[in-house]
Amino acid sequence: MKNLDFLLNQEEPEENKKEEGHNLGTIHVTEYAFEKAFAYARLMCSIAGRTMECGGYLIAPKDSKDLIATDAYLARDQEVQEGFFEVHAEDVIKAGRELDKQGFKVLGWWHSHGFLRTFFSGTDDKGQRTVLNEISAVNYISIPEEKELKNLESKVENGKLLLFDKKNPLRKYELQVKGDPNTVKVEGLKLLGEKRVGFAYGLVVNAWKDKRVPYAEIATRDLCFSCRKSRDESERVSVTVYDTGDHIIDGNELRKELREKVRYERRRYVPKQFNFKGFKSLFRKVDGIWTPTDQEKPKDDRPAKEELSAKEEQPVKNENDRRKRD
Ligand SMILES: [Zn+2]
Repeated sequence: MKNLDFLLNQEEPEENKKEEGHNLGTIHVTEYAFEKAFAYARLMCSIAGRTMECGGYLIAPKDSKDLIATDAYLARDQEVQEGFFEVHAEDVIKAGRELDKQGFKVLGWWHSHGFLRTFFSGTDDKGQRTVLNEISAVNYISIPEEKELKNLESKVENGKLLLFDKKNPLRKYELQVKGDPNTVKVEGLKLLGEKRVGFAYGLVVNAWKDKRVPYAEIATRDLCFSCRKSRDESERVSVTVYDTGDHIIDGNELRKELREKVRYERRRYVPKQFNFKGFKSLFRKVDGIWTPTDQEKPKDDRPAKEELSAKEEQPVKNENDRRKRD
């Protein structure tokens, strides 16, 4: 597998503060999964006729160990709004069960911000914690850990060899040896263990046509047995996209899936800046509801140019309101 090593974020993510020895400094994703998430984002806005969010999970074959998300799965029964997508614990559990039967595991989640820019909102922080809670016990990496115990002294007590640190009298190590313990000389003691770090990917995409600026975070939880309490963190990371050869993203199939799985309010947002003539070229009245003229027509993956440019003005106008909600 060829690592294209795209650093897709325009702004450099903050320096990765995590320990060395693992690959959680970036979200690993195939080009197919990456492109599919962006295609869902674009098509959802096209279907809704306005900016609209949608989302799901980043998944990989169950037995894979390379941390690469190979597909962007669209969540079922999601209720979304122009600036709102929420992930609930029960959704993650349900999707996890369904995907497990299909031979996949969940590495994290993804969602679209429609025509808004990509970032993590307060709702998204909560979503990130929810996904981490649900998957970290089974979705983890192992890091070998060793701890050298210095300044140990030894003495023989009741036929056993006792190692102790004078500065830390509460901790003792008792060695049962065959033969005379007085003949054993201990020069050092190293504790070898394994630290497990549970993780969850979080990826935000949007429907911008020409500029790809994904936003990514990885949430982690230390699961080591010696950790007194688990520490959860989520940090901004880059996205590494892997070229896995040819892939086909069927826009019509994705549209069908979006229509089946995503529920949203079919109300039209009417931009004030449109005059009625311009408005009528984009919408017609069906059963008393202004509906986009393109809605029932088959079309390609991308919304018509004028439709897109007209809608792109909305997020700017309402960005502050929406940022609060999402
Ligand atoms: Zn969001």
